[in-house]
Amino acid sequence: MSHQYPVSLIDLHMHSLASDGTMTPTDLVRRVHAAGVRVMALTDHDNTAGLEEARVQATALDIQLVPGVEVSSEWNTQGIHIVGLFIDPENNILQGGLSRIMAFRDWRALEIGRLLEDAGISDAEAGARAMAGSRMVGRSHFARWLVREGHCADTNEAFGKYLGRGCKAYVPSDWISMPEAIGWINAAGGSAVLAHPGRYKLSGTRLRALLTEFREAGGIGLEVCSGSQAAGDREHLGCLARQLGMAGSVGSDFHGPNFGHTAIGHLPPLPDGVEPVWDRAGIHLH
Ligand code: AMP
Ligand code: MN
Ligand code: MN
Ligand code: MN
Repeated sequence: MSHQYPVSLIDLHMHSLASDGTMTPTDLVRRVHAAGVRVMALTDHDNTAGLEEARVQATALDIQLVPGVEVSSEWNTQGIHIVGLFIDPENNILQGGLSRIMAFRDWRALEIGRLLEDAGISDAEAGARAMAGSRMVGRSHFARWLVREGHCADTNEAFGKYLGRGCKAYVPSDWISMPEAIGWINAAGGSAVLAHPGRYKLSGTRLRALLTEFREAGGIGLEVCSGSQAAGDREHLGCLARQLGMAGSVGSDFHGPNFGHTAIGHLPPLPDGVEPVWDRAGIHLH
């Protein structure tokens, strides 16, 4: 039951080397354990390749692992991320959908490389791919390569100068629609949660419209407490969750120790009256 643990012992959003995190799933689970967190979700971008390795280590350390994924999606041209929790990673509909996104990512990496070439920077695609290994390739890998090669001082500059929306090497992305992404998660028996709603910089009216459509499409909740949005967003998002009858989730969005991100488990509790997503999903946390 949710009352058994203070909510900070639950962290339902983090990344490993399977996407743009910097730790192996094994090392990530060890770090979760060392932080005193008892329940974790591994939510790599658009793939579930890290889950099996994480499961083995979580079993060894008595960590409850929630199988997850963070699906890249969009709503009215706004890029959004949807976290799927409690998914069955074997589900064919989910995996078929994710493989479409991974194919798009491969194509986009070529395009980003071409645009960087036009901007006078050679070999970026090969460099980013080498950093990603055989795994998901994303803008974070390009950003880290640009820093490593001395083209940018830090990854923020890489996004601000080259990779961010409207910048020189930005490829407008045709992500999967919100209802489609939610459909895959639900097909896999999961719970769809809107990731870091505070990060999209939407007006209150637009965010309410997004969440209303999210709920109508079968989504059940939103990240009320997220390491990827301002701590002050928690109150407002808690109100929205209560008003719309949506569940709340908590997640650090941890990518690795060197990112200045929120540390694992360092999250405030859900505001009073917000139903935890793990209760809504009927999951018994033991
Ligand atoms: P992608 O999904 O490949 O388009 O890349 C998005 C990822 O890049 C996010 O999940 C973040 O991890 C990272 N990211 C986005 N914006 C920034 C930024 N301004 N600085 C550093 N990393 C960022
Ligand atoms: Mn990321
Ligand atoms: Mn995200
Ligand atoms: Mn994330």
